[in-house]
Amino acid sequence: MSGSFYLSTLGRVLKWAESRSLWYMSTGSGCCADEMLNLAGSKYDLERYGCLPQVDPRQSDLLIICGIVSYKAMPYLRNLYDQMLTPKYVLAVGACANSGGPFSPKKSYSVVPGAGEVVPVDVYVPGCPPRPEAIMNGLIALQGKISGKNTSISALE
Ligand code: SF4
Repeated sequence: MSGSFYLSTLGRVLKWAESRSLWYMSTGSGCCADEMLNLAGSKYDLERYGCLPQVDPRQSDLLIICGIVSYKAMPYLRNLYDQMLTPKYVLAVGACANSGGPFSPKKSYSVVPGAGEVVPVDVYVPGCPPRPEAIMNGLIALQGKISGKNTSISALE
């Protein structure tokens, strides 16, 4: 067997392991945070996917943004993102985090039109609010993106 075979296999194993050990920080600036809390609870048990909640950005490689992002909060959100481990990923949960939602710039002067204006978002989860299953689907899609496989639930149907 050639050395490149072992290196490419090792690379795939490392990517798979990375996708199954995401330690996340979440922001909760809106009602979507309740759905995220549900997901972390015993009913949905997010930890079975290897996702552990963290409170320190220096120990996190996944940022889950739930709810609105205001212009006032923008620098703090970016500061959190900059302190996170590399490689790092971002999941935007709900219409507000995706595009400003019902508080879009046409309706509110203080709301950023989506978290993508502040940090690079890897997966957007639609809904107002999205159900916990939808957030879980977004996480599975992110795991697939990291490991190089399309594993979202819609892809499995
Ligand atoms: S998307 Fe809907 S449920 Fe989520 S924070 Fe915005 S208004 Fe609330």
